[in-house]
Amino acid sequence: MEFSTEVVEKMAEILVNEMEKMGQIQGGIREVETGMRELLRRVGGEALGRYLERTDQAESMEKTKPCECGGEQKYQFCRKAVILSVFGGISYKRRYYTCSSCETGQAPRLHLGADRPPSSPEQWDR
Ligand SMILES: [Zn+2]
Repeated sequence: MEFSTEVVEKMAEILVNEMEKMGQIQGGIREVETGMRELLRRVGGEALGRYLERTDQAESMEKTKPCECGGEQKYQFCRKAVILSVFGGISYKRRYYTCSSCETGQAPRLHLGADRPPSSPEQWDR
């Protein structure tokens, strides 16, 4: 992935400003590194949750969808979902449908590798 240098510089400035505000810049390099990593993890989790919600909202809104049982799923509401990511547990809201024929509820699958096994924060250590 190619990121804008301007965006990276702005985010770095925000990160340093926040670290200074919290007084975490005073420690040794290990403390600073650990603090920045934790802040980045939290920012990543917040951003991923927002990204997932936007992706869900960007899909065309359908009041009904065909169900695997042959019945029809009807839109109910946006429901909280939780996934495990490299940033830890992420909660976000996504559309939720239920089928009156088979009495199951489903959320549309995101095209983001939703079938993959969950990531773990330890993957950042490699
Ligand atoms: Zn069904």
